[in-house]
Amino acid sequence: MGLRRIGLLGGGQLGRMTIEEARKYPSYFAVLSPDFPSPGADLADEVVIGDLSDPEAVLDLGGRVDVVSYEIEHVRVDALKELEARGIPVLPGSAVLERIQDKGLQKRLWDEAGLAQAPWVDLPENLSALPPADRAEALRSRAARVGGFPVVQKLRRGGYDGRGVRVLSGPSDEPLPGPSFLEARVDFSKELAVVVVRAPGSEPAAYPCVEMVFDPAANLCDSVRAPADEPPEVLESALRAALRCVEALDRAAHAASPGGAGAVGVFAVELFLSRDGRILVNEAAPRPHNSGHFTQDACAASQFEQYFRILAGLPPASTEQYRPARMLNILGDPGASGVPEYEGLAEALAVPGVTVHLYGKREVRPWRKMGHLTAVADTPEEAARRAEAARSRLRVLGG
Ligand code: ADP
Repeated sequence: MGLRRIGLLGGGQLGRMTIEEARKYPSYFAVLSPDFPSPGADLADEVVIGDLSDPEAVLDLGGRVDVVSYEIEHVRVDALKELEARGIPVLPGSAVLERIQDKGLQKRLWDEAGLAQAPWVDLPENLSALPPADRAEALRSRAARVGGFPVVQKLRRGGYDGRGVRVLSGPSDEPLPGPSFLEARVDFSKELAVVVVRAPGSEPAAYPCVEMVFDPAANLCDSVRAPADEPPEVLESALRAALRCVEALDRAAHAASPGGAGAVGVFAVELFLSRDGRILVNEAAPRPHNSGHFTQDACAASQFEQYFRILAGLPPASTEQYRPARMLNILGDPGASGVPEYEGLAEALAVPGVTVHLYGKREVRPWRKMGHLTAVADTPEEAARRAEAARSRLRVLGG
């Protein structure tokens, strides 16, 4: 089989870890990145420096490779469509990204597919421009339709890591500007995630369901427990929901764009486990995900290896998890800025079962995701203990 040259939009850590895994095999990567050096571009065979939202730059990248993918959702769908029209496959297909980029369209799809989720209602596009009394009335009437305040307002586009999400406690709270919807606030006991792998012509496969633990100070998913500590029937129903999400994305994409690739690639589905024991879909990402980083050190093959294999036209690997794992993000110290300095790396690596993955970012900022570590052990408790021990020894300071 000839080597498929892969074009990746985005120069971040997800691309970097994909290229790291791919180097076990013959591989060729061209990366479109706004900056060089950058985590992904550093390891590429070829770099196109350009903006991900510049169609010319995307087409330039596409002209150099056999298949294009994206490690970030914030890219121009019209440029991806143009690539497809020119016969350059885009994985996952542009129609999948188009759905996912707009959280309102995602919500609609989960409803159409009969998946359980938080009730929601669209907000008027001109909400922010309304006089305060009208705005409050618009919020009050819509909040009533999803169970009343407090409600969660979500921007349809452009949000990530919690930006674009605001809890409104009453009708006089200031909403975020921009097209958005209201969603009932879920009383959840846990946030769960499932990474799904879907290669062309094979059944989708899922990694074990994990729990994402959020750090309110950093406003980030801080820790991942793999597998989640729930009874088998809960884990099973999370897996089923995640697989159904990916199948729904695939059907919708093929209906919108029959020539596109559909939902082929690696997906992460975020779910809520409500206090009354129901699995509710939150959102999906069309790429490897923080909740799947544990797969690098605890599974037969990582989410990045799966991603590479699918892009390269190779068969997917097993999603089996060998050992319990705990993944922790490594963030910039609260006061850190400038060139990163890693203090305590040797001490962290001295903890048994621990692997540290640093992303090679050239600059540290407070709370910036600089890397992650994963600990594996015979029990989940021991994995957690090892991970915390390693992280307490490691700091990212600014030089
Ligand atoms: P993003 O795309 O920015 O990650 P999410 O929709 O995942 O946005 O929301 C970010 C976080 O906000 C979630 O991880 C969860 O903690 C909280 N959240 C989102 N939606 C709800 C909801 N309906 N009820 C309660 N909490 C929510």
